Amino acid sequence: MLKKTAVVGAGASGMMAAVTAASNGNPVTIFEHTLQPGKKLLLTGNGKCNFTNRDMSEAHFHSCSDDGHIGKVLKSFSADDTIEFFSHAGLFTKEKNGCVYPYTDMSATVLSVLRSEMDRLRIKVVCDHHIDEISDPFIIDGETFDCVILAAGGKTFPKTGSDGSGFDILKKLGCRIVKVLPALTSVSLSEDLSMLKGVRCRAALSLFINGEKVQDSSGELQPYDGGLSGICAMDLSGLAIRALDEGADVYILCDFMPDMDEEELKAYIKRMKEDFPERNVNGWFEGIFAPKLLKYLLHPLDSRKEDFVSSVVDTIKRHRFCPDTKMCADLSRAQTVSGGLSFSQVTPDLMLKDHPGIYVCGELLDVYGDCGGYNLQWAFSSGHTAGRLR
Ligand SMILES: Cc1cc2nc3c(=O)[nH]c(=O)nc-3n(C[C@H](O)[C@H](O)[C@H](O)COP(=O)(O)OP(=O)(O)OC[C@H]3O[C@@H](n4cnc5c(N)ncnc54)[C@H](O)[C@@H]3O)c2cc1C
Repeated sequence: MLKKTAVVGAGASGMMAAVTAASNGNPVTIFEHTLQPGKKLLLTGNGKCNFTNRDMSEAHFHSCSDDGHIGKVLKSFSADDTIEFFSHAGLFTKEKNGCVYPYTDMSATVLSVLRSEMDRLRIKVVCDHHIDEISDPFIIDGETFDCVILAAGGKTFPKTGSDGSGFDILKKLGCRIVKVLPALTSVSLSEDLSMLKGVRCRAALSLFINGEKVQDSSGELQPYDGGLSGICAMDLSGLAIRALDEGADVYILCDFMPDMDEEELKAYIKRMKEDFPERNVNGWFEGIFAPKLLKYLLHPLDSRKEDFVSSVVDTIKRHRFCPDTKMCADLSRAQTVSGGLSFSQVTPDLMLKDHPGIYVCGELLDVYGDCGGYNLQWAFSSGHTAGRLR
């Protein structure tokens, strides 16, 4: 039997849910409270939209409440399915290190293709229409619907429309929400890093919570006066923020020379000392580190001390950064949120257990992925799962 369906939110997950439901013949209306669909999608990947990744291992996803739902949802509409869906609809794609982008390098192209699909399937889009609760029966704008798909997104970049009102709708329905905190954001530190301004360097970061290593991440580090940015730092931010919020002891060890192990670094220093006795410590590393970084690493060390060389090795291979709690409250710059609707509240088809006929997808659920196309893939996989209306 066909089901008259309302979708709340015209973001990536809502549009995919609508297209999936309408593909099965169901009449679909999307209610969107901004003036246009897909505002956040346009910002993604610096406007290039990294919309999925060839490596969809579950290790790239983080949740406090998952009990097997995430893997099933990702399998039911995989990265290959996403690429096939867009290719079939006319989107030419390209890949870089597993990350998949539109061939145009323009997120607007992905949105255009989705909108063309919505037009083809006669999906009605009602913009400038805020939803603040779901009544029972489901009546919106005087129309009665058989099903509602909540796809109102998280609570970051509020200008794009994701202002957290989806969580309020779920709370009014009596649902359990895991505390919503920023994720995929730069890591603020209590230490002032202004002397590293403009430095870009390779680094391997390890996040420690209460003395235990919980996550590794490597790539280009971009320090700024207030902390650490760059994808490798952003990837650690979600777990770091949640742990800080819970009062845990959190620190990051940074390896500024990940391409040499400790023994190789020691051997390199030994050789430099033997082959170039006239050089000082700056001379040993002038061909490896940018001058500002070298100055930052070496300035607290005393070359007259007996353990100087081991301190140098330590500061290069295990530099300790202490994240600051102020990042726990700053949702404005985060790419996504951690927390959201607990998976204990939904069926494997993402329907609310206590409210049959209401489905939830996208960032509203308690999961986020690493940088690299994982969050849009989650939006598409969960949107597709919800849109099947099972
Ligand atoms: C700057 C930036 C860059 C990013 N880059 C990438 C990337 O390259 N790759 C990647 O995978 N992910 C990226 N992400 C994350 C990704 O964009 C999001 O995880 C994804 O778009 C979430 O989709 P969604 O449908 O759940 O929510 P949204 O896209 O936020 O959509 C929710 C929609 O619901 C509407 N809405 C909200 N509340 C209501 C209401 N009460 N009534 C009616 N409408 C409502 C909103 O206006 C919005 O249109 C990026 C995020 C940001 C901010």
